Amino acid sequence: MIGLGSKRRIAGVGVFNRFIMSRENIICYQRIHCHRIIRVIPANQLFDFLMPYSTSLKIMRSRAFVLCFLVPLSLVSFGQSLFNLSEQKPAARFPVTDPVWPLQPGDATVCLWEDDKLAACSVGVDDNNAQDVEWWLKEAGSRGVPVTWFLVSGWIEKRMPLGGTGELWKRVKSAGNDVQSHSVTHLVDVGPEWKGIEWEYTESIRQIEEKVPGHAVRLLAYPGGPNMAKNDRQIAAKHFLSVRGVTGTPNPANATDYLDVNAMSTCHVGDRPEKPWCNLNNILDKNLEGGRFYRGWAFPFFHTVKPETALPVLDFLAANGDRLWCGLFADVTRYGQERDTARLSTQSVEDRRIILDLVDGMDDRFFDYPLTVKVRLQDGWTPASVTQDGHAIDFRQIEREGGVYCLFKAAPDRGRIVIERAR
Ligand SMILES: [Zn+2]
Repeated sequence: MIGLGSKRRIAGVGVFNRFIMSRENIICYQRIHCHRIIRVIPANQLFDFLMPYSTSLKIMRSRAFVLCFLVPLSLVSFGQSLFNLSEQKPAARFPVTDPVWPLQPGDATVCLWEDDKLAACSVGVDDNNAQDVEWWLKEAGSRGVPVTWFLVSGWIEKRMPLGGTGELWKRVKSAGNDVQSHSVTHLVDVGPEWKGIEWEYTESIRQIEEKVPGHAVRLLAYPGGPNMAKNDRQIAAKHFLSVRGVTGTPNPANATDYLDVNAMSTCHVGDRPEKPWCNLNNILDKNLEGGRFYRGWAFPFFHTVKPETALPVLDFLAANGDRLWCGLFADVTRYGQERDTARLSTQSVEDRRIILDLVDGMDDRFFDYPLTVKVRLQDGWTPASVTQDGHAIDFRQIEREGGVYCLFKAAPDRGRIVIERAR
């Protein structure tokens, strides 16, 4: 991405202040409140497009500059198919704002979180703790909160009752929850017989997938304890879409480290002022903690359940269901990585039809979670249908301050999106 700083108006293109180059296209867009795409130009018209403006776009002095710098940069940054966003302690990827309401018909934005919710939350249980499964199924299930269990795979059917059985974990999964990796041994013994950290990661995937047939293990929670330094981020990045760590704050919405997702073994709902960093209200209230967690992603996790600490968290999530997206770790981390690399472009705005393209930089074999898209329609419009690649998708219409908006869910790279107006 090349920032051009101030607004530019170029005949035939319009006003823009950013452009992106991919293998196929140069996309000019405004990055103010939303990514308003101005024009998509095929890369084979690269020189035809850029050269007339080389004095206006001062950075491009020569064709040699374009060839030596811009094109290689574009190949590194775009047109990719990433297995994970591996940037460690990332800087802010975009400004965090209140929910965006595009101003012009055809303007579209990818919502920060599913259903345009204000913030996101995932709940986890570590170290199997199978004895508590029935409690979680009842208490979290009745509040609409899905739970991700991080399983020490070597304990399944061996260290009972803590480890749980394959049958139990199948039932957990089929109730809308998830089971993912927490290594084979929890690194309790890393002596001469130990088979190494890559074995801990890959063998745990194999063992859990064997106990829960048809299930794909793609996520890890780094095992803690005295040997936690044996964890290896680079090796984890080869095998997992995302990894949960134990840094005890929410994740800033624009700076999640997807290979070390912050999670809170201790959190509260505003009743422990001596620990302001792990207050769940931080993700909903911009006045807390300097606003750095506002609209972020919180991840409380538990070991042996203590109802007096777990129930207030579940009650908080249920009570704030209209503002909070409670999603599985697998879903929220995929949404985040797709969103952080997404490019949404308005291809055409016609009297009865709006056409959009939604692409991202992630590997579509794993990253197929639908993003929520919000589009401003022409005044007076009622959408009759939304399709992606010709297939109907659900949508809803919202009216706000005189504007008409359409919200729908579409996975990136799955074909052209067409909104048709009702007659
Ligand atoms: Zn653990």
